[in-house]
Amino acid sequence: MVAAGADAIHFDVMDNHYVPNLSVGPLVLESLRRHGVRAPVDVHLMVKPVDSLIAAFADAGADIVSFHPEASEHPHRSLGLIHERGARAGLVFNPGTPLASLEPLIDAVDLVLIMSVNPGFGGQAFIPSSLGKVEAARRAIDASGRDIRLEIDGGIKIDNIADAAAAGADTFVAGSAIFGVPAGAGSRVDDYSSVIRAMRDELAAPAG
Ligand code: ZN
Repeated sequence: MVAAGADAIHFDVMDNHYVPNLSVGPLVLESLRRHGVRAPVDVHLMVKPVDSLIAAFADAGADIVSFHPEASEHPHRSLGLIHERGARAGLVFNPGTPLASLEPLIDAVDLVLIMSVNPGFGGQAFIPSSLGKVEAARRAIDASGRDIRLEIDGGIKIDNIADAAAAGADTFVAGSAIFGVPAGAGSRVDDYSSVIRAMRDELAAPAG
């Protein structure tokens, strides 16, 4: 992914409890780091409870750890745990979760992640109403005056990435748009990099 031009690796962690699926644990991240993968790693915890895995992923080399506030008994303490381990901390909001819990926690947040699909599976279609939530999060971030990234995750493709940027997102997670691209004449890295280049072109083009 990084060879194909991505800025960071987004690590989806699913526990078969908070979401009905199971994916990578901290050992996978640890072994990537041991094999010299230096790219920023953004760990998205779709797990409940969160605190023990926060420690495990931060220690395994995550740069950012984010979690769903309703999956933690004490989200403020969970954000503090992430910072104590030297990582940046994010809160994730599902399509059905209001942004209400962001305001009291915003001073402890480095990343807001808006889900534009329900978490748990790849390959779902983008939910258009999530753009309104991105706009609301952008207003809250700007009002806070803090340096907080605004990331969108779920169904991001070449044809909607500019809309997400116009709504205020500055960081974009793409999975199936990249990995699902048909094989071309070159290597898979060439296929992936052509999608990432097309996304960057969309972001650079004037809105309209
Ligand atoms: Zn994710």
